[in-house]
Amino acid sequence: MILYVILRDNQGFPRELGVFLGKQFVEHFLTLMDSCDYTTVKMLWIWYRMSKRQYRSAVRQAALEIDLFGNEHENFTKNLEDLMSTMQESLCTSWSCPTRFQELLKRTVIINPPHELPPRDPIQSAVDEFFCPKILLCTELGCDGLREFSQRGFCHGAPPFVILNMQQWRSEELSYVPYHLALSQHRYSLEGATLFNKEEHHYSAAFQIDGYWMHYDGLRSDNLILLHKPPELLLLSSLVYTRASDK
Ligand SMILES: [Zn+2]
Repeated sequence: MILYVILRDNQGFPRELGVFLGKQFVEHFLTLMDSCDYTTVKMLWIWYRMSKRQYRSAVRQAALEIDLFGNEHENFTKNLEDLMSTMQESLCTSWSCPTRFQELLKRTVIINPPHELPPRDPIQSAVDEFFCPKILLCTELGCDGLREFSQRGFCHGAPPFVILNMQQWRSEELSYVPYHLALSQHRYSLEGATLFNKEEHHYSAAFQIDGYWMHYDGLRSDNLILLHKPPELLLLSSLVYTRASDK
């Protein structure tokens, strides 16, 4: 649902995303979502990904059961890994280090809470921490050098949107979610969030449209509602930010 809102709200994004997911796939996705046939879209998405063998082809009984309302990460964000991949290079100061030069590829943007909460904007600080250069003790066996990490960068340029995995955060640490985020030399704006309902063990989405916040929950018959305040009993799973235009 958030993906749909992002693509419909931002003119150039369907073309950009087509490079990663296939132009035809993006077009079909938008047409089906326009018709409000959300469950069909979800099934087609999973089917499409099965054909790309993301799901095991060695079919076991368990693998046949597709959980339509289950793990949002397995079903969705995992498929956007190419878009979200980042790379960080590192070099150890010790000449005897077994692997002096290393390249660290991350396929998802997992944002960990800082050890000590900074006085201002913990999320921006944690995002900076993820991308910024750093020097740490080398962890190679028998090496006592220092490892210098370069600035982390997106492998395919700044993506049209980013999904920040926030599962490590406690809800009280997330009382303030910034509307704007500086990320990899670009400005991003908050577009939505995925929420996890502990009691029902399932995910739902909150997103902004025309300045209003909506909540989409596929399990409800009245599945799209206007939000007056954040839904209760839900934990934040991820935050979705879209790239602001360069204008
Ligand atoms: Zn080393």
